[in-house]
Amino acid sequence: MRGLFIEAIRATQEAYGTKPSMPSGVIHGGPFDGQRAAWNPVVQLGNDVIIEREDPNKQLWHFRSEFPAAKDEYSKVGGHTFHSGDVRISIDVLAIAYDHQDPGVIALALYHESIHFDDLVSRGLRGNKEDLELRAYTKMRKHAADLIGTSPLQPNWKKLWMDSIKKERARNFEKIVRRDTNPILPTKEEDAALKEEFDTQEAALAQIRRQEEMLRESAEEQQRAREARARSLRAQPIAGADPTPRAQPVAAFDSVGALKNLAQRACWSPDGILEADIIRWFSWVPDGRNYFGLFPSDLDHCSSQLLNEILAMNTNSPGHAGLSADWLTRRAASLRSLSQSTPYPLIPSAPTPAISVAPPPPPRMTAPRRERDCDRFTWDGISWKEVGCP
Ligand SMILES: [Zn+2]
Repeated sequence: MRGLFIEAIRATQEAYGTKPSMPSGVIHGGPFDGQRAAWNPVVQLGNDVIIEREDPNKQLWHFRSEFPAAKDEYSKVGGHTFHSGDVRISIDVLAIAYDHQDPGVIALALYHESIHFDDLVSRGLRGNKEDLELRAYTKMRKHAADLIGTSPLQPNWKKLWMDSIKKERARNFEKIVRRDTNPILPTKEEDAALKEEFDTQEAALAQIRRQEEMLRESAEEQQRAREARARSLRAQPIAGADPTPRAQPVAAFDSVGALKNLAQRACWSPDGILEADIIRWFSWVPDGRNYFGLFPSDLDHCSSQLLNEILAMNTNSPGHAGLSADWLTRRAASLRSLSQSTPYPLIPSAPTPAISVAPPPPPRMTAPRRERDCDRFTWDGISWKEVGCP
């Protein structure tokens, strides 16, 4: 957002040539006498902001940069130039320019402040506020036609300035001058009060920055946790599974879960399958065992068909022989396109145990009781034999 405001100011200055005679210079007079100042108009978002600056004698000064609400846009204060060389343009000026689709309003505000800036680095902000404003408005009058020549605001602005400047201290003009608080230096008491306000403002800003920092840290923490979860999912086919395969008797559910997971990953994981994944998954599967039909029916078409094919391969050629990551990826792609192009699976999936109460809860496997595969497992106390062996 800030970048856009800077760009709006830059582009307006380029288009209208509303810059001071010198882009930088040495400040004349006042507490910042002798210090260099560069023309750098900043768009101010808040209506009331305190600026703190240190003068060459290391004394701190506080300036109120205020853009109070105005009864209409013609009496709106558009900018301030401070003794420190700081130049602020109200965000309202950009809003008015946007409303009228006319950057001439920004050009006017910049031009007005550029006159103050020229004064600051040539003769100093001498004299009272009204004299300084009169100088600025008188110069503006000469260039107003160039700046607002095509502006839809032109008749109103022109009238305001003509009236103001002709009558010099006419009420209308004095009203503007009174509101334009910029060149006045605060007294010691005023500065002390401003410093208090500045400290409050900075504390509030620091609080916002801390909250931003905490939000950023928490977002990063969540991102790290997501990445760690993704890594552990890739490293371990089944959450909670024993990470040392074959070192102890392979639990039946681990084998089933491992193969199921392999098929699902081949079908749906954007990361795909690596050869190393196949070796790891099959390290959970006892060679040559027939798991056909032992799988719950919660698999989609692609995964269940692929699983059946993997099982068939495992039965015919124990281990992962003949199974490559390349084959899995191609086969999964073809199965996916089949299930997307037809409302019904073209290839029927393998028979699955007919469990009447759907969907099955996570299985709690008990120790094998007998040798036959379909007798070996119970599912929540119901043995596969009871629910129907294939
Ligand atoms: Zn002014």
